[in-house]
Formats: sequence, structure tokens, C-alpha cells
Amino acid sequence: MAQSFGVIGLAVMGENIALNIERNGFPIAVYNRSRSKTDAFMKNRAGGKNVVPTFSLEEFVGALERPRRILLMVQAGQPVDMVIDALKPLLDPDDMIIDGGNSLYEDTERRVKDLEGAGFNFIGMGVSGGEEGALNGPSLMPGGSKAAYDAIEPIMTKIAAQVDDGPCVTYIGKGGSGHFVKMVHNGIEYGDMQLIAEAYDLLKNTLGLEHEALHEIFTEWNKTEELDSFLIEITADIFKKMDEETGKALVEMIVDKAGQKGTGRWTVMSALELGVSIPTITAAVNARIMSSIKAERMIAAKDLTGPTATFNGDKKAFIDKIRDALYCSKICSYAQGMDLLSKASALNGYDLDLGETARIWKGGCIIRAAFLNKIKQAYDDNAKLPNLLLAPEFKQSILDRQDAWRDVIATAAKNGIPVPAFSASLDYFDSYRRENLPQNLTQAQRDYFGAHTYQRLDKEGIFHTEWAE
Ligand code: NAP
Repeated sequence: MAQSFGVIGLAVMGENIALNIERNGFPIAVYNRSRSKTDAFMKNRAGGKNVVPTFSLEEFVGALERPRRILLMVQAGQPVDMVIDALKPLLDPDDMIIDGGNSLYEDTERRVKDLEGAGFNFIGMGVSGGEEGALNGPSLMPGGSKAAYDAIEPIMTKIAAQVDDGPCVTYIGKGGSGHFVKMVHNGIEYGDMQLIAEAYDLLKNTLGLEHEALHEIFTEWNKTEELDSFLIEITADIFKKMDEETGKALVEMIVDKAGQKGTGRWTVMSALELGVSIPTITAAVNARIMSSIKAERMIAAKDLTGPTATFNGDKKAFIDKIRDALYCSKICSYAQGMDLLSKASALNGYDLDLGETARIWKGGCIIRAAFLNKIKQAYDDNAKLPNLLLAPEFKQSILDRQDAWRDVIATAAKNGIPVPAFSASLDYFDSYRRENLPQNLTQAQRDYFGAHTYQRLDKEGIFHTEWAE
């Protein structure tokens, strides 16, 4: 009997999502370019399960019921095109390819056009949750034609993470929208991770706290409605893990150079192209870049002196202020990410439902957090909300905490501790809430040296002045 679903690519993600699909009652066929992974999979985790191994694309395609539904979990970029090109001659009209990798949304737009033009169905689906999510329930962000999504909805709603208000999957929109939303999800993830790193830096280097205290603080923060999230939870766990060789906290033995695979950078590039300001997420990408020049920083650390961190105030009160600064900054970061989604939706005709997008991030994915309920609520109350900062809930949260937020950033500056994402968030808030910014001067300068013209506050029209006396 033919298998109802196919998975190509048996690395970390493919292997786990294949097991998830099979566990939910869908017999699968699998294929991987290198035979060794398929053999190992069958010998170990897929043993005794309704999984048919195949060793050529012809055999794979032949093992599937029609119309075929094939999930690609291969390395993003050229490999996706290579697999699609090899598959195409073997497929029949109405067969469907789903790309579940972290593909660039523009590549997905191109593939949707190409494959739909050739009579096939194509879905570009963001998958978040890493290894564990893929196995037990990821957050899924499928984009493409609605009819194509409808054909896989029964499978996707079963394999996705389940939360109080449903499975963490929804039809995102046409074309590359699924991968666009996944990209922004990852940008927000960069922002969250950097904000947590800055809170850690301040707790450690202004207050001198060590791993036991850090573990307790993050454990407490994870019990709050504002910060309860997967990333805070794993941060608390990380501070508990000891290095057997040195007896120190393992995190303190790790080289401070952060890697990146590109989705954060893509988010920043898209925002620049669309003219959307996302300074917190940009600061997070820059922070990883700065961290990567370790050798240069080691030299600079000897030559470029700054203040020695000292703290004489109330430690407990300052810990609470850091928590508040983290929450205010997080609100700003999400406001930026949602604004990027909103502008991209308008420009590309994605017709995104931002409240529903926040809902499907509540489970399975890396940014899952109780706080996403509030974002969903904000868009349910006002689907046309221009910015999350204007939602009554978030506005009040920031107004109640902004003194603490400003105090934390001022203390960091006085102590010479970089808090690029905290600061970028506060700058975003302060810029957004200002009726008058100093760009009247920028306009005057542009008109002075380039006759770029300007508008006036007191009358309509376009003006130019000969500025030089
Ligand atoms: P990966 O390391 O990104 O890719 C390895 C897989 O791609 C292997 O199965 C490999 O086959 C296959 N592959 C590479 N080049 C190929 C080619 N030219 N033709 C055919 N197959 C090719 O695997 P992954 O970490 O499981 O991720 C899969 C996708 O999910 C990626 O797009 C990734 O960005 C995305 N993703 C990953 C995570 C995560 O936590 N890892 C989370 C979300 C999304 P061989 O075994 O033959 O080399």
C-alpha cells in the first residue's frame, strides 16, 4: 500500500518531523541523498514504525499515494532547487512539494511561481522549534495557495504544537509569506536572546551575581506573566549546568562568539528595503557580529579603558529594574517585528492576520511565551493597530516601568557595560512617541547641499532655499 506522506532530508529536522508525522497516523516514505542517514534512521529511531525507506527519488516517488505530498527538509539555498529540479520530471500534476527549511522568502516566491506554473502545488513553510519541536510539535508557518494548504491542513494541524486555543499552525498567506513570517520570527528570536544576554551581563557585572543567583532570578522571572517563556526557562537551566572538568558554571567556560545562519541578517535587510525601523533586532544582529571579532576585542580590551563597574545601591531593587527594562525592551522588539510583518503584508498582498500569527507562536517555537497572548489580544481588539506600543496593555506596561528602564540604561552607560538592544529599544520608544524629531535640520542640510527641497509646518507645498549667503 502506498504511503500517505513523503519526507526528503533526514538530518536533525527531517528525521524528527518524519517521526512526528508517522506518530500522528500518517504512513511515510523517506529519502536522503546519502544512504547512510537513511540506513541509520531505519536501524534506530524508525525501527518498527510505518516508515518506508527509499534509496532513489524514483523509488521515493513510487512509494507515495497520489496526489503526492512531499516535505523537503534539506539545507536551505541551492540544495532546495537541486532537489526540486530532480523531482519535477518524476511528479504528476497536482502533486505537492512543501519546503520546510529556512528558505529565503524571495526564493520561495520564485519557486511558487515556477511550480504552480508547471501544474504542481508548492508550499513554503516556516518550521520553528528545533529538534524537540520537530518531534513533539513545532510551530508551522505555511504559505502558498490556500487550496494547497487545505490539502495538507489535516496533517499540519495534527503534527503542530497544541496550545489552549488550537494547533500552532494557520494558513499564513500567498507566495513566500510563510517564509517571510518565519524570517521575522527568527529576527524576533535574535532580539529576545540579545535582551536576555544584556540582562545577564548587567546582573553579573554590575551586581557581581554568580550562577546560583542567576539561576534563581531567571527562575523567578519565568513565573511572571510578562517574561514566562521558553528562552527565559532555558536560560535558568543553563545557569544550573556545571562543567565537570573545572567545577565552574559551564556557561562561563564558553567562548563569547555567537554564530548566526542568516535569518536575523535577512530580517534586517528586508526591513531596510521596506523602510521599517527595527533597531532592537538590528542591534541584536550587530551584537553577534561584534562578539565574533574576539581576537580584536582582546587587544582593544588592553588599550581602551573605561569605567570600572561599581554598584552601591539597593541590589534587590536593581534586579527588579533590570526585569522591567527587559520587559519594556521586549515589547519594543515585538512592536518592530509586528510592524515589519504589517508593512510587508500591505506591500506584498500577504493579507496577514497578525493576531493569529502571534497565536501560532504560543507553542512549539523558540519565542513561545505567555506574553504572546497579550499580542493576540491587542490585534483581536484592533486589527488595524498601527503599532503595538499603542495597544492599551502595552502602553500602560511601559508607562509604569519606564523610569526603571531609563535608570538601568543610564547605570549601564556609567559602568561602561554595552546594552545595545536595551538602548535601541528605548530609542525606538522615545523616537516613536516624539511629535518633533530633529530631522527638520536633516532636511535643511539636504536642501542646502543637494536642493532636495523640504516641506513647511505652516503651509502646503514643496520649498527650496538658496542657503549660502
Ligand atoms: P541541514 O544541516 O540544514 O541540511 C542537511 C540535509 O540537507 C541533509 O539531509 C543533507 O543530505 C541535505 N542536503 C544538503 N545538500 C543537498 C543536496 N544538494 N541535495 C540533496 N540533499 C541535500 O539540516 P537540518 O538542520 O535538519 O535543517 C533542515 C532545514 O530546516 C534547513 O533549511 C534549516 O535551516 C531548517 N531549520 C533547522 C532548524 C534546526 O534547529 N536545525 C530549525 C528550523 C529550521 P546529506 O545527508 O546527503 O548531506
